[in-house]
Amino acid sequence: MQLLMVEDEERLAQSLSQGLRAEGYAVDVVGDGLSGLELARSGDYAAVVLDLMLPGMNGFRVCEELRRDANAVPILMLTAKNGEYDEAEALDCGADDFLSKPFSYVVLTARLRALLRRGAASRPAVLAVGNLRIDPAARRCTAGDTVLKLTNKEFGVLECLVRRPDQAVPKAEILDAVWDSAFRGDVNIVEVYIAALRRKLHAAGADCLIETVRGIGYRAVSDAR
Ligand code: CA
Repeated sequence: MQLLMVEDEERLAQSLSQGLRAEGYAVDVVGDGLSGLELARSGDYAAVVLDLMLPGMNGFRVCEELRRDANAVPILMLTAKNGEYDEAEALDCGADDFLSKPFSYVVLTARLRALLRRGAASRPAVLAVGNLRIDPAARRCTAGDTVLKLTNKEFGVLECLVRRPDQAVPKAEILDAVWDSAFRGDVNIVEVYIAALRRKLHAAGADCLIETVRGIGYRAVSDAR
């Protein structure tokens, strides 16, 4: 199983790669973003461990470039400590998981194993309703040529509906899929996001409509004529 590690802190890269090799992985290590991108594009890696702060090109950019190429290699992003913003960004730009520095080696390998189990193959293709396209891997949503700027929750709600076009999706199901289990608020919070999504879809010229299904929830339908 071949891994790519893009990390410019030499000692960290060395100790991690040594540990991973001892567990039987083949590990290629590079110390800058451009080499990382090049290798990730050309190589057949089972996963990429990608540092955020890198010389040449940062981890976000590397990740975005790969996803733009429709490269679905699982990516574990290493972010700076206390970087809540970084973590959200990491997921937004298409990383599969992130780990804040400093982290324990045990946690790194556990996360890697989880990523490898899920694998690139299980990645859903691009979802579509009408001219609306959602790429869950790249966290990208477009209507024709227009890119919709969605918040994480808006994206999640829309993805939930577009996964099952023409079917009524219960509000509670949307809540479960998008909000974490610690959320104790009103299920009607979903309405607020639906309203925002309808505005954005309309503004972007999407011919995907979100219909209200009374007493149940919502349904995404194509309005293309
Ligand atoms: Ca770094």
